Amino acid sequence: MERVLITGAAGFIGSHLCDKFLKEGFRVTGIDNFITGSPKNIEHLVTHPHFDFIEHDVTRFIDIEGKLDYILHFASPASPIDYLRIPIQTLKVGSLGTHNVLGLAKAKKARVLIASTSEVYGDPLIHPQHEDYFGNVNPIGPRGVYDEAKRFQEAMTMAYHNFHGLDTRIVRIFNTYGPRMRLNDGRVIPAFMGQILRGENLTVFGNGKQTRSFCYIDDQVDGIFKLLFSGYHLPVNIGNPEEISILDFAKEILELTGSKSEIVFKDLPVNDPKQRCPDITKAKKILNWQPKVDRKTGMIRTFEYFKSLSDRELYNTEHKNFDRFIKR
Ligand code: NAD
Ligand code: UDP
Repeated sequence: MERVLITGAAGFIGSHLCDKFLKEGFRVTGIDNFITGSPKNIEHLVTHPHFDFIEHDVTRFIDIEGKLDYILHFASPASPIDYLRIPIQTLKVGSLGTHNVLGLAKAKKARVLIASTSEVYGDPLIHPQHEDYFGNVNPIGPRGVYDEAKRFQEAMTMAYHNFHGLDTRIVRIFNTYGPRMRLNDGRVIPAFMGQILRGENLTVFGNGKQTRSFCYIDDQVDGIFKLLFSGYHLPVNIGNPEEISILDFAKEILELTGSKSEIVFKDLPVNDPKQRCPDITKAKKILNWQPKVDRKTGMIRTFEYFKSLSDRELYNTEHKNFDRFIKR
């Protein structure tokens, strides 16, 4: 049986990857320190005969017994509120954590896939974003802690590939959503859905003309799986190219859920990208991949998940008020 190690296993994407690899017949070892993830995301796997879990911070030496065939490095805060709240940990997991993961892959002769992000393109000056674009990132802006950690992560991965001949993959993930996102992580979909469920107004930042392109989790996982088993080591965008402005998206969600909430406008966070849409030509050609789940279907599934959460989770405001980090 082939064995895969998944860092960030208790997070949103990591936990879905655990499900996918177990379903495909792999033995899965998950690692997480729960800094932004939750044991709840993997509690259904605890009794699975081919799953085991290590609570560990990957910025510290990672000690794994036995063979490893693949490593997927997904540990990192991912929402703007998270990485503004824990900026140093974000920089460390992208740099020191990635170094440890690459060193482990080298020692085990394992293939390694690194989770990068559309944020490496920053506030992009070309549209849609293709993989050859170098990006427009402010290293000292509030998002710099995440964007630069991820850019360093890519550089380190390529260095291990070129210098040590390590078998590497880099996925540049564009906004992905679905069940198991944290309701209070500040990202736009949980934010809007939480507001609807609490009967609050929807907070659109800026004038709402900024765009995003939302990819459903099942499509994302499918793309990552195909990339791992491709022979391609340069970065590949995985995301859904259907683009929408945040204001139109707020209206769409209100209609979809039949909510009577109203839209209110708040200040735009510093360096908030004005437009984001993946060019997925490469993924289509090399991986024969493209998203299958349309936004309406994905949103309904996600809303059903958020509706199933307890009031305690719905009204947990632990991470809600971080305006002070997003100074204009
Ligand atoms: P998430 O916060 O739900 O998951 C990240 C997980 O990593 C959490 O469980 C967290 O506890 C864990 N973690 C963080 N630091 C750690 C450390 N030092 N040691 C061990 N575990 C640690 O976020 P997500 O949305 O699932 O994102 C997963 C990965 O995908 C991240 O690397 C993120 O940068 C990348 N990504 C996600 C998106 C998206 O839209 N969801 C977009 C681009 C990139
Ligand atoms: N956004 C918003 N209202 C919210 C949360 C987010 O208008 O309550 C906007 C945010 O300014 C950004 C977009 O929605 O333009 C997507 O934000 P998110 O935090 O989900 O991810 P990003 O793509 O910016 O990393």
